[in-house]
Amino acid sequence: MNTSLFDIQINGFAGVDFQQLGLTAAQLRRAVDALAAHQTLRFFATLITDAPDALCEKFQHLERLRASDPVVASAIAGYHLEGPWLSPEPGYRGAHDPKHMSAPNLRTFERLQAAAGGNIRLVTLAPELPGAIEFIRAITGQGVHVSLGHTKASDAEIDAAIEAGARFCTHLGNGVPIELSRHDNVIQRLLTRDELIAFFIPDGIHLPPGILKNFFRAKPAGKALFSTDCMAAAGAPPGRYPLGKLSLEVGADRVVRLPGRQNLAGSALCPDEGVKNIQRWLGLDAPAARRLFSTASAELFSIELPAIPEPT
Ligand SMILES: [Zn+2]
Repeated sequence: MNTSLFDIQINGFAGVDFQQLGLTAAQLRRAVDALAAHQTLRFFATLITDAPDALCEKFQHLERLRASDPVVASAIAGYHLEGPWLSPEPGYRGAHDPKHMSAPNLRTFERLQAAAGGNIRLVTLAPELPGAIEFIRAITGQGVHVSLGHTKASDAEIDAAIEAGARFCTHLGNGVPIELSRHDNVIQRLLTRDELIAFFIPDGIHLPPGILKNFFRAKPAGKALFSTDCMAAAGAPPGRYPLGKLSLEVGADRVVRLPGRQNLAGSALCPDEGVKNIQRWLGLDAPAARRLFSTASAELFSIELPAIPEPT
């Protein structure tokens, strides 16, 4: 027997987008079953930047769907909220809509957390926004984890975020402009902070395999972990798939793009493929790859992973 997989950032799967208010119980169950077929029995359903009222509705809707299906309820081990407190600057904002971005606001967070039934476990934010450090201190004090991402924070802002309780970096190496100063950039600034556990997307597209290897070697043991950040195209054939209000294009090359744009917008990577990729690209044995992809992150969030039969 093996332990099943866990992923901290799943925006959708098997043609199903978790951002849609019209999401049906059958669609969500289909995504959960398809993730299970890819060995993934636990994950954080991830909602991205939108207006606070819309995010509240989405969390309430997901909670209603969880309440109606015990398999879905246990598969969604919590929520990862990525936005709306991100850098609105081009490149840093990625595919997130800057119109809905703002400085962090504790009252808004508390509304969202109430709508989510207290199940928001992880928030990705940009620590350079006004009030972000106090916000990090307040929500980490409530037991919610904070990850830095879609940010162009300075050294001092990163130091303050760590001191306030931030522990992670979301998809490090992405959520930045295509071209940056070779030394003075936020990837280097975050990579050098041994206190921070970095999550990387091992699809070979967000980070070419050689870059992934460099980043992996740059982190102390156990401080480089992995997540797919996958959207509806994962576990589904090439085509057009929604991510919130966006319609994204996924070709045979498995790259997820806004039509006509260079920026990547989530991945089409399945978690079990991610495990195989890190095994191959980082020269790990199978148990080490499973541990780094999955078990180590599940332990950080105290999530129990059910056993599954060894894949044949
Ligand atoms: Zn992102």
